[in-house]
Amino acid sequence: MDHRGIAVVGSLNHDVRLSVHRLPHSGETITSDALHRSPGGKGANQAAASARLGRAVAMIGAVGDDDAGRDITHRLAREGVGTTGIDVVDDSTGMAVVLWERPESTIIIAPGANAWVTGDRVQAHAEEIRQAGAVLCQLETPLSALGAVADLAAGITLLNPAPSAGVPLDLLRRFDVVVPNRFELAALAGAREAPRSVAEVRAMAESLGHPAVVVTLGADGCLVVQRNQSAAHKSSAAVHVRSVDVRAVDTTGAGDSFCAGLADALLDGVDLADAARWATQVAAATTTRDGALDSLPARAELPSPTH
Ligand code: ATP
Repeated sequence: MDHRGIAVVGSLNHDVRLSVHRLPHSGETITSDALHRSPGGKGANQAAASARLGRAVAMIGAVGDDDAGRDITHRLAREGVGTTGIDVVDDSTGMAVVLWERPESTIIIAPGANAWVTGDRVQAHAEEIRQAGAVLCQLETPLSALGAVADLAAGITLLNPAPSAGVPLDLLRRFDVVVPNRFELAALAGAREAPRSVAEVRAMAESLGHPAVVVTLGADGCLVVQRNQSAAHKSSAAVHVRSVDVRAVDTTGAGDSFCAGLADALLDGVDLADAARWATQVAAATTTRDGALDSLPARAELPSPTH
């Protein structure tokens, strides 16, 4: 790992996707018409996405001593991700059961080993975090891991607050960039409903009082909301980056590849709006193929960065 590398602190899951015509009612049994197993978890996806962009990557997380754990660790190693930060703990590897009612997914997560990625465990991998130029975190591991990352990191810290959950604002503000989708933004802001218009997204992002928020908006691209650093003027600037026009077949993993793209460009020293433009390219390419890990683009498949 060097100062241009990325450390990812997060989840590793075994994903089981069951294709269904409709969701079952309480107490009902239904039959799925297709079963698909794959390695996943937001941490693993973001690590693999960063490696495919050509970055040195260290994954910090935990799996069980089981086939699913070995499978995902080997897969990440094949992607070029450093796996010495993946601990084997006395629990099952995390699992996500995805009920896929095309095009929507309903997901149940069993954290398993991911719940063991606490602040103490992150501290045990302090060197990888200290050396990284950027550190990516999500919310599929305990909140105490975030505090440890904020204590240790010397590079840029990015928090993708997914899946939706509240995060204490003082902890949120210890991260340089926060990257929610509109539902996760509502959870952070303590709002009952997700913002609909771009103006509502902007107002809600501003309400967090965070200097740099990038809200992903699916096919509508993303909104970059930055607070003016000058103490005299408490204003903010917002840039709406439109998505790339592609034939999207499966948006799974788009948010994860967006975060990797953002970290990648920020490591090149570009400003946040330009980094979001690059992330938008990376995420769009992800939507053109089926799956999460399998759909992540390699740098050579992407247009040349404009930054
Ligand atoms: P997921 O949880 O499925 O990974 P998410 O909810 O975290 O996704 P989205 O806002 O849906 O994140 O998408 C992330 C980024 O992917 C968007 O900001 C956009 O750049 C890109 N994207 C998503 N859907 C499309 C689409 N249909 N066409 C082009 N780009 C898209």
